[in-house]
Amino acid sequence: MSPVSPSLSHRLDGLRSSAIRDLLTLTERPEVIGLAGGLPDEQLMPRDRIARAAEAALADRSRLQYTQSAGWGPLREVLAARESARLGRAVPIAEVFVTHGSQQALSLLGEVLLDPGALVVVEDPAYVGALQVFRAAGARIASVPLDAEGMRVDLLAELLERGERPAVVHTVSNFHNPRGVTMSARRRAELAGLADRYGFWVIEDDPYGELWFDRPAAEPVATYSPNVIRLSSASKILAPSLRAGWMVAPDRVCRAVELLKQGADLCGSALTQQITADLLADTDWLAAHVNTVRSNYGERAKALVGALRERFGNRIVSTDATGGMFVWASFTDDTDTARSLSRAVEHGVAYVPGSAFAVDSDYRSAMRLCFTTFDAPTLREAVDRLARTFGEERDG
Ligand code: PMP
Repeated sequence: MSPVSPSLSHRLDGLRSSAIRDLLTLTERPEVIGLAGGLPDEQLMPRDRIARAAEAALADRSRLQYTQSAGWGPLREVLAARESARLGRAVPIAEVFVTHGSQQALSLLGEVLLDPGALVVVEDPAYVGALQVFRAAGARIASVPLDAEGMRVDLLAELLERGERPAVVHTVSNFHNPRGVTMSARRRAELAGLADRYGFWVIEDDPYGELWFDRPAAEPVATYSPNVIRLSSASKILAPSLRAGWMVAPDRVCRAVELLKQGADLCGSALTQQITADLLADTDWLAAHVNTVRSNYGERAKALVGALRERFGNRIVSTDATGGMFVWASFTDDTDTARSLSRAVEHGVAYVPGSAFAVDSDYRSAMRLCFTTFDAPTLREAVDRLARTFGEERDG
């Protein structure tokens, strides 16, 4: 008798694997210059400093033990001090919650803030990891586009005036993934004003804020309203494998997240949390380290954008890359970047088609290019390969 197959939950209906993750496998060949990945540069990750901190942590056997669900106390203290400086108010430790990367904060917040059918407003194009969380929570998704000043808060206001009542608005306020733009100070204040007036949560998802090239981004949206939950992470400034993310949120949100975190994984790793605390508390070292990352990424971004302008002229409009890890490049004609991807891979270059991030628009003529892991000459070569890919297509 063949076994009767047990079923999976209905929550999985309509969930699909991230298109980016599927694409990455295709583009991992060594001869391909992979601008698709979106990974920070491991050559810039402070391996020796991490090794020293790990050695120090292991001198205390209790670091091998379970720790508190909300995070190892001294790390929360370091984070509270850091966030107090960032937010311009004394952030109590009860409002700081450590998660397994900021992605886990998103996932737990999806459960804490959303009932099935609740409305979530995201930016279009959107961070795919957030979309996955909101879809898994059974939310209805609406979107507002971005322009050079970040989220079109005026369109969010229109949506609210039409009577829509989101439970959550998600924004990547600094150096957007994938769109590259940063929200202006005026829009931050307006968004917070709407959150106060209509009573919704804003999730300000900010893993890239420290990675500015010329000047720091404006004050976090969280400085303007208590309804803003701020997420940040050590992944982009130290190393993703530390899996150290954190949330600054009202006490009642932290307590609710704590209940769920206990069920999800009991607690994070005391070992990597101590390493993270050690590095974040070493402020002179950290400032120098982050500056090195900034200047390397800044140089690479400028090389990529410069080469795009040189090779494609007016045929491509791209973001200026003032920080973060991504350039969003849009063809001004009807080039279809998804259709051209396999041809690009044949030419030895890969990107993520804009359609992978699309919510309500299609972004079929756009692509996300990640500049973090290649030096300037390699990036110029990548753009030459893109030019060959798309040039051929036009002639052919
Ligand atoms: N938010 C955004 C906008 C991201 O781009 C990422 C990583 N790609 C994350 C959150 C999650 O990062 P982590 O879990 O490593 O902190």
